[in-house]
Amino acid sequence: MKNMPRLTWFGHSAFMIELMGKVMLVDPWLTHALSPIRPSDLEKVDYIIITHDHGDHMGDVLEIMKRHRKAKVISIFEIANYIGEALREPNRTIGGNIGGPIYVDDLEIVLTPAYHSSARGSPTGVVIMSKEGTVYHAGDTGIFAEMSFIGELYKPSVALLPIGGHFTMGIREAIKATELIKPQYVIPMHYNTFPVIRADPYKFKKLVEEKVPGVKVVILKPGESFEF
Ligand SMILES: [Zn+2]
Repeated sequence: MKNMPRLTWFGHSAFMIELMGKVMLVDPWLTHALSPIRPSDLEKVDYIIITHDHGDHMGDVLEIMKRHRKAKVISIFEIANYIGEALREPNRTIGGNIGGPIYVDDLEIVLTPAYHSSARGSPTGVVIMSKEGTVYHAGDTGIFAEMSFIGELYKPSVALLPIGGHFTMGIREAIKATELIKPQYVIPMHYNTFPVIRADPYKFKKLVEEKVPGVKVVILKPGESFEF
């Protein structure tokens, strides 16, 4: 039986994505109040993608890299350098930049723009493409018109979009983003981890399904998986 591509949400922006037999973590902050697991619970990690260097996204990357000796970080050049130096293992990072396809194993990974801030390098989102399916993780961002290019060029099966407001898009902006990207599925993220980013994912779901026909919104609880 063929493996279905699968993703698992650990709350906030932390996802485990299983594609083409590889296990990728995006923004692995696993020590927040809603996370169902701790870094020591992870069994297999091949790649860790970091969208920007804020603590709620870099999260527990150093600990996970120490526990999983074969794991590699993929991120914007400056963050990759920082992690390589912190671990004294520069060969365990792959630094790229926005818009340039990165090929690893049977995956094609593209860092995308994000309207946000970051101390090291530019903030990004990421598209992970494969024969089994394509996932777009928007990182932390406000809405921007070029999201329509992400939809056109990469045709994501699943888009992971922040809806919590204050630091990122809120529900209104994330609905417009969904309209621009037109993925098959949208999964909301970056909400309800702390009070200033409180948002109702069911309101988001109802409005998307009214305004953007053909897109399904999947609401996960921390720890839940989705096959696509
Ligand atoms: Zn954040």
